Amino acid sequence: MSLLEPLPDCYEGDPDLLPPDEAMRRIRAHVRPVDATESVAVIDALGRVAARDVVSPMNVPGHTNSAMDGYACAGDSLPDGTPRWYEVVGTAWAGKPFAGPVGPSQAARIMTGAVMPGGTDTVVMQEHVEAEGDRVRIPPGNRPGQHVRQAGEDIAAGAVVVPCGRRVMPAEMGLLASLGIAEIEVYRTLRVAYFSTGDEIRAPGDPFEPGLVYDSNRFTMHGMLGRLGVEILDLGIVPDRREAVFDALREASARADVVLSSGGASTGEADYVKEALQALGRVGFWRIAIRPGRPLAFGLLGGSAFFGLPGNPVAVMVTFYQFVAPALRAVSGEIDSRPLPAVEARCTTRLRKKPGRVEYYRAVLERDEAGALVVRSTGRAGSGLLHTMSGANCFIVLPEDGATVEPGATVEVQPFFGLM
Ligand code: AMP
Ligand code: MG
Repeated sequence: MSLLEPLPDCYEGDPDLLPPDEAMRRIRAHVRPVDATESVAVIDALGRVAARDVVSPMNVPGHTNSAMDGYACAGDSLPDGTPRWYEVVGTAWAGKPFAGPVGPSQAARIMTGAVMPGGTDTVVMQEHVEAEGDRVRIPPGNRPGQHVRQAGEDIAAGAVVVPCGRRVMPAEMGLLASLGIAEIEVYRTLRVAYFSTGDEIRAPGDPFEPGLVYDSNRFTMHGMLGRLGVEILDLGIVPDRREAVFDALREASARADVVLSSGGASTGEADYVKEALQALGRVGFWRIAIRPGRPLAFGLLGGSAFFGLPGNPVAVMVTFYQFVAPALRAVSGEIDSRPLPAVEARCTTRLRKKPGRVEYYRAVLERDEAGALVVRSTGRAGSGLLHTMSGANCFIVLPEDGATVEPGATVEVQPFFGLM
């Protein structure tokens, strides 16, 4: 990846925190999609991003065919006033056409999906005719051209079916297969490296003593990255030593397109992430007006994009979903992601809020007895406790200028999951 544009000045010392919209705008302005592409089998393409428009090589349906079981005839032979008898001259099955021809006073028995025989353009449902031997009687009231699917009606040959920048989901896999396409050109998979920082951080399984904290951030990151389909490079836990942090950033940027760290991003004495980023790369911004997650660093590190996430486990998840995930999608080449819009719901809990920052409460969105959307918080906005995320299915997003929310007020909600 190359991040070609110059970064704006560092925001160090600026008393104003960067609004989250502006932070996201800057991230988007400075990340570029990977440039390499590869061809993969459609069966292996789930989660990959199309690197060019895929154009349909054929019409779908491939032939004009019947949408119903019934009788095919010529539309201009249909009766106006009184029913009319037709001679049945053959049967058209799906996959076994009846070539025709079918004359003006003739009809062909036809099954759903069967190619329309020569001389016919209309299907009369079998429930609407009276059959007698090899004759059928068609009543008035049918419309010429009815119950017929035209060739190319769903997809015309030459139409773009998967645009460049769309992530391949199950529907795209089926769609490509339905056109006889076995391979698709996609952007190469992103490589994302991450590490945790902190002298007090231990891996699960290590001995535990007072003052130590088990590392959860590499696990949530692994989970969140896994769902984005990137290649993951886990660089472990890095102690709060200047050289160790410098080495970790050097190694990570040499090996990955995007580098994520957690912790050590504040301005405490042992927080070396910012110093390392300044020395080895460029700091894009440092502090964002959000809670949790204020000390979120973004910058460039060699050819890689770098996010210095906070240490607080909830802040890691909030900043990942709000900033890192959209950035990773952009670097993956995705330009057509169609995220679910936020929804509004009545909040049943009181939410403390100070003006001047966007706050993300973890919450449960559900319907009340009357069927209205209601939402309740699972814990305090700034809490570091992951159980507030674990029990949640959405974020409540309180705007920068908003004050404390009293029960009954309407709030904006970002659902975690859609149907897929
Ligand atoms: P820091 O930004 O390094 O000061 O970290 C902020 C808080 O998050 C501290 O209480 C850390 O102990 C905690 N923390 C930092 N990294 C992790 C981690 N990987 N897993 C769990 N907690 C962490
Ligand atoms: Mg720390």
